Amino acid sequence: AQLDTLDLVVLVALLVGSVAYFTKGSYWAVPKDPYASSAAANGAAKSGKTRDIVEKMEQTNKNCVIFYGSQTGTAEDYASRLAKEGSQRFGLKTMVADIEDYDYENLDKFPEDKVAFFVLATYGEGEPTDNAVDFYQFLTGEDVAFESGATGEDSPLSSLKYVTFGLGNNTYEHYNSMVRQVDAALTKLGAQRIGTAGEGDDGAGTMEEDFLAWKEPMWAALSDAMSLQEREATYEAVFSVTEDELKTPEDESVYLGEPTSAHREGAAKGPYSAHNPYIAPIVESSELFTVKDRNCLHMEISIAGSNLSYQTGDHIAIWPTNAGAEVDRFLEVFGIQDKRHSVISVKGIDVTAKVPIPTPTTYDAAIRYYMEVCAPVSRQFVSTLAAFAPDEESKAEIVRLGNDKDYFHEKITNKCFNIAQALQTITSKPFTAVPFSLLIESINKLQPRYYSISSSSLVQKDKISITAVVESVRLPGASHMVKGVTTNYLLALKQKQNGDPQPDPHGLTYSITGPRNKYDGIHVPVHVRHSNFKLPSDPSKPIIMVGPGTGVAPFRGFIQERAALAAKGEKVGTTLLFFGCRKSDEDFIYQDEFKTWQAQMGDSLKIVTAFSREGSEKVYVQHRLKEQATLVSELLKQKANFYVCGDAANMAREVNLVLGHIIAEQRGMPAEKGEEMVKHMRSSGSYQEDVW
Ligand code: FAD
Repeated sequence: AQLDTLDLVVLVALLVGSVAYFTKGSYWAVPKDPYASSAAANGAAKSGKTRDIVEKMEQTNKNCVIFYGSQTGTAEDYASRLAKEGSQRFGLKTMVADIEDYDYENLDKFPEDKVAFFVLATYGEGEPTDNAVDFYQFLTGEDVAFESGATGEDSPLSSLKYVTFGLGNNTYEHYNSMVRQVDAALTKLGAQRIGTAGEGDDGAGTMEEDFLAWKEPMWAALSDAMSLQEREATYEAVFSVTEDELKTPEDESVYLGEPTSAHREGAAKGPYSAHNPYIAPIVESSELFTVKDRNCLHMEISIAGSNLSYQTGDHIAIWPTNAGAEVDRFLEVFGIQDKRHSVISVKGIDVTAKVPIPTPTTYDAAIRYYMEVCAPVSRQFVSTLAAFAPDEESKAEIVRLGNDKDYFHEKITNKCFNIAQALQTITSKPFTAVPFSLLIESINKLQPRYYSISSSSLVQKDKISITAVVESVRLPGASHMVKGVTTNYLLALKQKQNGDPQPDPHGLTYSITGPRNKYDGIHVPVHVRHSNFKLPSDPSKPIIMVGPGTGVAPFRGFIQERAALAAKGEKVGTTLLFFGCRKSDEDFIYQDEFKTWQAQMGDSLKIVTAFSREGSEKVYVQHRLKEQATLVSELLKQKANFYVCGDAANMAREVNLVLGHIIAEQRGMPAEKGEEMVKHMRSSGSYQEDVW
């Protein structure tokens, strides 16, 4: 009979799954350019806001559009790089376009002598990125109808030449499914692909090399298809960066790190979102454990009076500030430390170029607040600096690094250098000739980082807590500790809040009080992102949670909520948590709170622990899960929801496999059937992951 219940779940699965999926685009915040008001000052806005790409290309005299579907900025970065290369090496007239800024119904009118690129990341469980949801739905829908009235049957896209590259992660089940599906749909509609549909793999850490290896044959094929002549690439700035001596950093019009113009004017107000963060007070902060170089932070962030709201299981995004030590290093390496506070004005040279940072600003503010200067470095970026090297010797070294993948790996990637660190190993002379435009073009926008909210909205609706482990790791091969941008900034805020006048976590310093001291009194810019990671609406339903390390974050919220409901006399189902860490007396976070909640919930709260460094063998949560097969299976029969949070690369995968085995074994089915059941649980929403 139980099998029947699960099969029923299967039947409803697809329906619920697709409803959940299709509502997400509108439910989640769609990232927009937070500097929209400053962009208005450049040509992009002036050229008019048509949603017709054919018209737009005509107006701006382009023959190559590079659309991107991006969540964290990498696909957008690859799109810009392709645009630059196409223009500089092949004389293409390129433009980059956010895929949600245009309509798709007229792609059947795309001229034959032009080309469209689609650079598309796959997100989460094989989903499109937020900005590509509409495009994906349009193209893969049942009856795609174009303006000309042509349908899928008539090869409506026969005039469309396209190039495509996907960004994915092979540790997820639906590896690069976005590019695969879009490519299949375009081909089915008659469009002609040029080159192969490229796939980059973040899971294997080969994204950059996959991209570089894919693009050369693609350019050759495109040159053939469009009769392009390759020429010596010379750098052409995308932006003009001018120093404005008439302005000082004190001028009200200058952005000193503020996320939007309203923040700059001191008039920021809601609704707060991914394009308009709320400057939130941190009301409490502490360390859950500190051992040697490992710290784990707990922070309580107030959203009272902001009109922001959250639900248990949602995410909060923290907008970080780069460490002072890294800002100084960057300024020195490019020889601009003496004019760090000069005001610069950035404009797109081409009307389609969107300025990615607010302007006017200062060099210091741009580097500290708007540019991801600490990120790993790409071989292509380093190559472009050869022309601006301070002497012939450094130039030769850069050329070698650019041409030799293994050498680059050994000298730069393996050592985990950011751009300034990498250049410091080449020469101690400053790279004063590098145009600042090149740096703006090549370095991503500083991205907010997401954290799984570790509190319950039912218990503390105006206070969001986060649980974050401070990234300070020596990666294999690295000669220095790699310091996470956001978590070290949060550690500095915690130190300041707890009385340290000069916070200096791991030798870094921060501009704690923020632009124009607007973050004084310990504030941090945040926004909330709603997720589908949710408790069952009926608290009497049992739940099983697997959350080792900081993966326990959302489950602290879940348990806090169920304990409060139990304290109010509500019937709360079995609440089973698998928690893992190194040692019971080292990094077992929240154990005192769990004891308190256990007192409120009695036997319904069960916590199973796995300490990896206590016995002779390493024990992880998936081992404990296996040991508890009977209980787990029993709870699934009672329609338990199953949740996994934390490490996407190994743990989540293992847990998924173990659960399949448990189901198969306990029900006497073949292993594949167990796996299928887990898949069905996923699509029906009874198996939920929050992994990173
Ligand atoms: P970053 O600066 O982003 O660095 C991250 C890592 O990148 C480093 O550890 C290093 O491995 C690598 N790296 C950085 N620079 C270099 C370089 N130059 N060369 C080579 N490698 C480099 N984290 C939590 O602690 N708790 C949570 O609850 C939580 N929830 C999350 C929920 C979601 C939905 C997502 C997507 C992520 C979540 N994370 C959580 C992870 C979190 O968002 C951050 O990624 C994490 O805190 C690190 O951020 P950071 O800015 O400190 O590190």
